[in-house]
Amino acid sequence: MLGVRHIPVLSMARFLVYLFAIFAALLPSRGADWVLYNVGGRDYVSMRNLAEFYGLDSVRQTGNEVVLSSNTRSLRASANSAEFFINNLKFILSYPAVEHNGQICVSRMDLVKLIEPVMRPSRIKNAVPIDTVVLDAGHGGHDNGAMSIYGAEKNYTLDTVLRARELLMAAGYKVVLTRSGDYFVPLDDRAAIANRYKSAIFISIHFNHGGMGTGVEAYTLAPRGVPSMMSDGPSISDFQECPGNARDAENMALATASHAALIMKTRMFDRGLKRARFVVIRDIKLPGVLLEGGFLSNPQDAKMIATPIYRQTLASAVLQAVENYRKAVGTQSGPVVESKKSQPEKKPSPSTPAPIDPPATGTN
Ligand SMILES: [Zn+2]
Repeated sequence: MLGVRHIPVLSMARFLVYLFAIFAALLPSRGADWVLYNVGGRDYVSMRNLAEFYGLDSVRQTGNEVVLSSNTRSLRASANSAEFFINNLKFILSYPAVEHNGQICVSRMDLVKLIEPVMRPSRIKNAVPIDTVVLDAGHGGHDNGAMSIYGAEKNYTLDTVLRARELLMAAGYKVVLTRSGDYFVPLDDRAAIANRYKSAIFISIHFNHGGMGTGVEAYTLAPRGVPSMMSDGPSISDFQECPGNARDAENMALATASHAALIMKTRMFDRGLKRARFVVIRDIKLPGVLLEGGFLSNPQDAKMIATPIYRQTLASAVLQAVENYRKAVGTQSGPVVESKKSQPEKKPSPSTPAPIDPPATGTN
């Protein structure tokens, strides 16, 4: 891998500190001006420009890759790649980074809609204080979702949600479930249930299916004009404003908080934070995220998902996600709970990330 010698090999403890630091150490902007480059009809900014703006002192470019870092934060991008790393957590850019006049650049859309809300979540305007979490167990009733030889997605999502409810209530949150048993709830109804609550966030739980894919991922609503990563290409509907787009910045902060918690708690392969327009995150008026807790089509993942201890780990990741988010956006008017230092949990059984990572299908 190009430039790999410039990336410090991190111990797991250090890695966790890095993840926690995602929302911490918000350095004041140094007032750097943005310089826009038009590449192929789209605006881009250089990573060097980001370094100046966010006060990241070290800039190391090796071949196609550039790493910006300070004591507490790092950003990494590669030309012609949509993978982007913030403190070693993987994000999937809406548009791949490009090289322009020897500089590696990211799109203005990704700067505004992804990087900025993650780097400075406390600046998100009008972030609503939360005291309620709406939990959405995917599928149900006649809709089994994905199947493994051990069981159905609908049962795993419900069990995970019930476990998460226990933890959240013990921490002082109000919890609303879109379904609490094995029955079918249409996607529109799930969004309608969520929309009854104002000081709330929405977390939908699913499990993946598709080839030998492995690992966990998080989906947040694609901003207006950005193609869904679940579609083959751009479509007219990409340009329609969805109700959820009113909360783009909060969505990204919530998805980051959730994805970081998911990776930390489960130690599963990081498939990245992605964009989509699934109905439940498209039609809600509160910040929302959809989490995929592993692949039922992968024998190792499926075996683990079938264990209560893994689903309990996922539930603890949901609690951690909510806590991370609430701290990140600086809305402390939710329940006052002791902030426990998070103890990373051991994954129930080790699973080696597949060397080849095929794209997921049938995610929702
Ligand atoms: Zn599903």
